[in-house]
This record gives sequence, C-alpha cells and structure tokens, in this order.
Amino acid sequence: MSNKDTYAVQLHYLWKSFGDNTVLKGIDLKVKHKEVVCLIGGSGSGKSTMLRCINSLETFDEGKISVGKESFSALEPGKKTSSRLQQARFASLKNVCMVFQQFNLWPHMTVLKNVMAPLTLVKKLPSKEAEEKARFFLNKVGLSGKEDHYPANLSGGQQQRVAIARSLSMEPSIMLFDEPTSALDPELVGEVLTVMRDLADEGMTMIIVTHEMGFAAQVADKVVFLADGIIEEEGPPSKVFENPSSPRLKAFLSTWSERNAGIN
Ligand code: ADP
Ligand code: MG
Repeated sequence: MSNKDTYAVQLHYLWKSFGDNTVLKGIDLKVKHKEVVCLIGGSGSGKSTMLRCINSLETFDEGKISVGKESFSALEPGKKTSSRLQQARFASLKNVCMVFQQFNLWPHMTVLKNVMAPLTLVKKLPSKEAEEKARFFLNKVGLSGKEDHYPANLSGGQQQRVAIARSLSMEPSIMLFDEPTSALDPELVGEVLTVMRDLADEGMTMIIVTHEMGFAAQVADKVVFLADGIIEEEGPPSKVFENPSSPRLKAFLSTWSERNAGIN
C-alpha cells in the first residue's frame, strides 16, 4: 500500500473564515481506513464546518483535503476553478456521504423511493437494480416492511435510519454524521446509535460529530476535541475521556457530565 493510500481522509492545514469570523485555523487531521473518529466540542467550535468542507458543501480558504486518492486544495478567490480541481472535488464526493441532524427526506416520496432516488438519478441504475439495493439497505437498518410508508408516518428514529440507508446505498467509502441523534426524542436515540455501531463493527470509515459521549467512548478509535477552530486535543477515548490533558477539554467534559447527571 503506497503512502497515499494509507488514509481515508486527510486534512492539511485547513483554514476557513466566514467574513471576519475565522472558524477553522489550520486543522490537520488524518483518518485511517476503517477508523471511527468522533468529533466533539462546544457549539460554534467549527465541527459542522469541518465536515461540510470534507463533503464540498463549503469552500475553504487555505490548505488541502484528501479523500482516498483524490486531493483538492482551496479555491483561489476570484479565479475560475481549474477543471482538474473541480474533477477532484467531484471524484471525492462519490466516496463520501453525509447524514444530518435533520433527516432531509423527501416528504412526498415513500421510504423506498427516498432510498431509490439517488440510485436512479445520480448513479443511473436501472429501476429494478435500484429497488433491490434500496430494499437491501432498508433491511440492514431494520426497516423492512416500511418501504411503502411516507416519512411523516415514521418516528424520528425511523426517519433517520431511512436517511442512513439512503447514504449507505450509495456505497461510500466514508460516512460523515453531523449530530445524527440530536433532533431525536431520547427514547429513539438508541436505535440510531445501534445502526451506527453495527457499521463501525463492519469496518465503515466514519467521522461522527456527536454529544453522545458514552457512544463515542465505546465506538471511537479516536476522539478529536475541537475548540475555537483548532484541534485542542485528540487521542483514544480512554485518554481523552478518562485522562484529558487540556484544561479546556476538562472544562468541556465536566460541563457535559453536570448537564447529563441523572440521565441514564
Ligand atoms: P459547530 O458545528 O461546532 O456548532 P459550526 O461549524 O456550525 O459550529 O459554526 C462555526 C462558526 O461558523 C459559528 O460561529 C457559526 O456562526 C459560523 N458559521 C457557520 N456556518 C456559517 C455560514 N454559512 N455563514 C456564516 N457563518 C457561519
Ligand atoms: Mg454543528
């Protein structure tokens, strides 16, 4: 395996500002194949922005992102993007899928059609093949039997599992999750985390923004704490959660455990 293939995702010196607000300040991150990275940090620390840069939903100002063998650097302001750069961005997108806090299902389509649509429209699969694939991945997230339902008739946990099935059916090499359980009632969080834990066990490479510290402690290979646009601390969960070095991380974790005291 060449050095270039060693990582599923690599961020080199990633900078991103919104006007005067510098949100990412030279982020360096390496994610290995099959690794599960949990990204934690306070509100506004740049977690979503970082995922959105990886998925090309945001541009960035400086630095480089590699997804597998495809690398793309910052777009030069005011310059036309080279077709080579544009191609690299699009090529990398084939390998990355993102699941959001809000499930973003199409309300007018059945569960089955929601999962089939990207397969027929983006991947251009024949309808029969798309349907088979969609049914396979709906089964995988425990939703066999719900194919003909509409999103509005499902619980939040079920809707999020449809969104996960829709992403999985694109067979990405990396899955990004941005607080996938934050919009759910507490009793529905577990079913979504179970699906994600199964994916981790199967070796899916994942970057997960989450406030579910128990889940992160169990499933993450690496926990990354973002504060004010820098990686303040990173390491295995045993180190980050049980023996944090950074005062800011200590403060963040203790606020979290006070807030969650008594919830179990
Ligand atoms: P987190 O996900 O950690 O809560 P975000 O990445 O969403 O943080 O936001 C980081 C900072 O960037 C915040 O100050 C937020 O207000 C700002 N921000 C995010 N998206 C935009 C945007 N599209 N336009 C302007 N500012 C933004
Ligand atoms: Mg966010």
